[in-house]
Amino acid sequence: MESPEQPNNWQCARQCGWQRELSQSVTRLAELCRLLQLPDPPAETTVDFPLLVPRRFVERMARRDPNDPLLLQVLPRPEETQPAPGFSCDPLGEFGSLDGGMQKNRVLKKYPGRALVLVTQRCGIHCRFCFRRHLPKHGSHHNLGHSTLDGENLDEILTPLRNDDTVEEVILSGGDPLLLDDEKLDRLLHCIEKIPHVKRIRVHSRLPVVLPSRITDELAGVLSRTKPVYLVLHVNHPNEIGEEFRARRPLLRDPVLLSQTVLLKGINDNADTLAPLFTALIDLKIVPYYLHQLDKVQGAAHFEVSEERGLQLIAELRHRLPGYAVPTYVREWPGEPGKQAIEGAKTE
Ligand SMILES: *Cc1c(COP(=O)(O)O)cnc(C)c1O
Ligand code: SF4
Repeated sequence: MESPEQPNNWQCARQCGWQRELSQSVTRLAELCRLLQLPDPPAETTVDFPLLVPRRFVERMARRDPNDPLLLQVLPRPEETQPAPGFSCDPLGEFGSLDGGMQKNRVLKKYPGRALVLVTQRCGIHCRFCFRRHLPKHGSHHNLGHSTLDGENLDEILTPLRNDDTVEEVILSGGDPLLLDDEKLDRLLHCIEKIPHVKRIRVHSRLPVVLPSRITDELAGVLSRTKPVYLVLHVNHPNEIGEEFRARRPLLRDPVLLSQTVLLKGINDNADTLAPLFTALIDLKIVPYYLHQLDKVQGAAHFEVSEERGLQLIAELRHRLPGYAVPTYVREWPGEPGKQAIEGAKTE
């Protein structure tokens, strides 16, 4: 593994090191089990959402622990194929419009002032609870040959943004927008920034946490714009935050860093996990933004935590942590105009 300090091959290590690391991600269950010194799996699961884990993330898992909180996020389970009432393939009612696998409608405008751009379908890791897991063609993303953004489909993104002058904030999402290489990301941000009515840009990504080598000086440069950039990092467990992430985080001087977390049964559904997570984040100058109630996506029912339990956790965190370290507990329901804060709202 290269470290950023190594002088030889400096240029390449910085420009394509993360891409190479990503292309070497673990995609076979048998290999994952071998690396973790776990018994062989009964069989490779062939679900439509294949195993994909960067080796850096595997390194952060405990050996011989089938309940490791990082492992549980990526491990395909038989429960995934069991139907659960209320859980569907498109819980947010978004993909109906994404015919042909997101060729069209890369820009979603659900909330006033904000437009969400689906930059790519690919992710750097496959999280079993993901509400996008049933997105068409969500497979074989690990082959980072080329990214899905070229001159032609750049206009698919830019035209709706330019034509709607109520859009003040552009949110890059996916998939993981930081899978774009720096050059493409720079071009996209440059074009978005030039739209006069756009005041700020937000980027949602899990990549810097699961593959910290993505954080480079070059990326820092790309994310440093004339308009404010907010970078929302997805992080679910304190064990995800390792030395490499800590060491590289200061490179990202310019964007405001926020975090979001999904509340997951058996992974982070207790205050003794969430408190150290949020404390670690504020100590790295990352402000916890959202704690998400799980989206009711088919195959993820075994991760669900009740809202009642979630509210208890928030109350305990309020007691234990500085106010700004406690994120807003939200859920998203189709047809409702925005994410809804659960805290303070009535639950049934
Ligand atoms: C979550 C989301 C947003 C942004 O919501 P915030 O509450 O501002 O973080 C915007 N558009 C879509 C489609 C979303 O799902
Ligand atoms: S969109 Fe986020 S939660 Fe879903 S698989 Fe990608 S990184 Fe994981």
